[in-house]
Amino acid sequence: MTEKEGILVTDKQEIEQPLLHAKNIKKYFPIKGGILKRTIGQLKAVDDISFHVYEGETLGVVGESGSGKSTLGRVLLRLLDPTAGQIIFNSVDISTMANREIRPFRKDMQIIFQDPFASLNSKMSVEELIEEPLVIQQQLPKSERRKRVIDMLEKVGLRASDRLKYPHEFSGGQRQRISIARALIMEPKFVICDEPVSALDVSIQSQVLNLMKDLQDDLGLTYLFIAHDLSVIKHISDRVAVMYLGRFVELTSKEKIYENPLHPYTQALLSAVPVIGIDDEEPNRDKIILKGDLPNPADPPTGCAFRTRCPHAFDRCAVERPNLVEIEKDHLVACHLYS
Ligand code: SF4
Repeated sequence: MTEKEGILVTDKQEIEQPLLHAKNIKKYFPIKGGILKRTIGQLKAVDDISFHVYEGETLGVVGESGSGKSTLGRVLLRLLDPTAGQIIFNSVDISTMANREIRPFRKDMQIIFQDPFASLNSKMSVEELIEEPLVIQQQLPKSERRKRVIDMLEKVGLRASDRLKYPHEFSGGQRQRISIARALIMEPKFVICDEPVSALDVSIQSQVLNLMKDLQDDLGLTYLFIAHDLSVIKHISDRVAVMYLGRFVELTSKEKIYENPLHPYTQALLSAVPVIGIDDEEPNRDKIILKGDLPNPADPPTGCAFRTRCPHAFDRCAVERPNLVEIEKDHLVACHLYS
């Protein structure tokens, strides 16, 4: 393990190519108050996060609702401007580019949203929905666009004739397949998947996850996969980052997260995952009940943000914020228990 551009990287990662490098990313939202609506504070949705995403991998980002994971995804795609920090995509710093400059990069960076109903315009046919990015970004003749749409529909498990239908004619799982086709039509390199299966029935979730894995292999995609459900993250991720109140508290391989979680928050999240039947891969875990709810991100606790819910908190936790450091090989944790 060595330090590279301020981030601890493993020997394996040194020989792999980072597609995206997030460096000290912050996203603060001003809190307005008083008659004059002056800024009276900052909501630190993302607070100084650094990491790499390597070509061809899936980095899962997991945390409760309100932890800042979706904001992080939107900042990485520059759908939101970062308050501070750098986003280096394919070796180019895109963090401060103007909209006009960033347009060529948009084709390589796409997003799949949680709710396919809300993200698909119900007045547009499937063909219009899927070809729209091609119309906006590329000057292709209609015949070529149609060929690409049909090709993509087949890749996501739909039929060529489905292009003439409208979103309401499909089930939730099929609508998410249309969203995936729309995101992939530009042949992106990097896709942010923002809770893409959490609105679907459990029986459909694994079908869509398997489709996403197959597409990743076929098209050489790199995913940042955001979810609140650890069993979904386990299904698809190579590495996992656990996020709490705007910061990563643990980052390691999927195997280490599930076999040897070190941060008390990760341990609590894992203990809450229901184990159905006998799963040999799933270690027996005592249930850890977390005290209270996620604190208000506009007024987080001092020191370690998790201390108000942590069963192991001690004096130091109230005064000093723990940094994400390597505790064992390729396993980064932000907790004073280990330092
Ligand atoms: Fe718990 Fe302290 Fe570790 Fe935070 S630093 S997770 S409060 S033990």
